[in-house]
Amino acid sequence: MTALGESTRQRRLLRPTAKVLPEHARAHNRSLVLQQLFHDGPRSRADLARTTGLTRVTISDLVGSLLSEGLVTELGTSAEGRPGKPGTLVGLRTDGFSVVAVDLADDERMHGAVLDLSGTVLERRSAAVEGRTGAAAVEALLELCRELVAAAPEQVLGVGVGSPGVVDPDGTVLQAPNRDWFDLPLASQLAGALGVPVHVANDANTAALGEFTYGGASGGGLLVLTVGGGVGAGIVLDGVLVQGHEHAAGEIGHVTAVDERDDVDGAPLGRPARCACGRSGCLETVLSVPAMRRRVEGLDAEGRAAALASVGRRLGIVLAPVVSALNLSEVVLSGPRELLDGPLRDAALGALRERTMPVVSSSLQLRMTSLGEDGALSGAAVLVLSGQLGVS
Ligand SMILES: [Zn+2]
Repeated sequence: MTALGESTRQRRLLRPTAKVLPEHARAHNRSLVLQQLFHDGPRSRADLARTTGLTRVTISDLVGSLLSEGLVTELGTSAEGRPGKPGTLVGLRTDGFSVVAVDLADDERMHGAVLDLSGTVLERRSAAVEGRTGAAAVEALLELCRELVAAAPEQVLGVGVGSPGVVDPDGTVLQAPNRDWFDLPLASQLAGALGVPVHVANDANTAALGEFTYGGASGGGLLVLTVGGGVGAGIVLDGVLVQGHEHAAGEIGHVTAVDERDDVDGAPLGRPARCACGRSGCLETVLSVPAMRRRVEGLDAEGRAAALASVGRRLGIVLAPVVSALNLSEVVLSGPRELLDGPLRDAALGALRERTMPVVSSSLQLRMTSLGEDGALSGAAVLVLSGQLGVS
């Protein structure tokens, strides 16, 4: 854990339990400056002082060390017609470093990429999982990471990994049953072998970070629902990823959505199906991609629309208390557009509106991700940006 990581966590506590040490304050101010340059583009030192509220002396000092680290560069003078001497613009060197990102959400293949700091994918590599679990799966992942680090055109700032399962903030996978990973310190194992910083988080959480940073999400309460072989969700509130008591916030795929005594209208969903978790009728048993494909197989257009709408309605019912309790502004769906974007999304929004107060749902957006298939990869890159630079 770096000093910067520590300071980030302290900043997030409403009731700080330790005093802020001078080196933490410096790391905090450093990320304020980087955050500003990351989102707003090049600025003069005077502008940075104005927007961050830091003194000119502090800004000059911080910019001086960022220049020597190679993270920022000077870009000529400001063209703005302000009175006085024009200031030299300082900008983040988005192409000066590479970030390696890996998405493990797919059970069949691990997908990896090298990105620059602006989130542009420069190189792609993938590797088949071939049913490997446990230590063999870690070894295969390490091999893919080595390939990606070697392919990076610039110095690698870090490696970000989106993993299935429950992952703590230090990158230990607490449980990922389908990989047979339990209490596995994945981030520290990979970092030790690769010699670069490694950050690991749950794959739905990384998708939420990608949407927050690169997908145009407002950050005023965002839930990203990832729909694939399973169903997961990541939540960003007030610009911070919600972890939850046991680091399992967002695990709504195993909330019961269909039960025996069901009297919810719409096309019948049938008897509750057995779930991989050992119970029956979980949201995942109707909303996972394989479950939806089975449901619509052989149906005509009308039957298909009705079947997807009834799944969407269940989704809306499950989401209504979540949206109300957190007063979310956006719910973003990530998964196959041909299944999610249409009758399913309309029915989910309809159910949400019906079951929540207008103040909660009238301005609620329920939309498809704007990041396509690269959402999880850009989110894994954000893990590195936020872990190493305090930028998201
Ligand atoms: Zn389940």
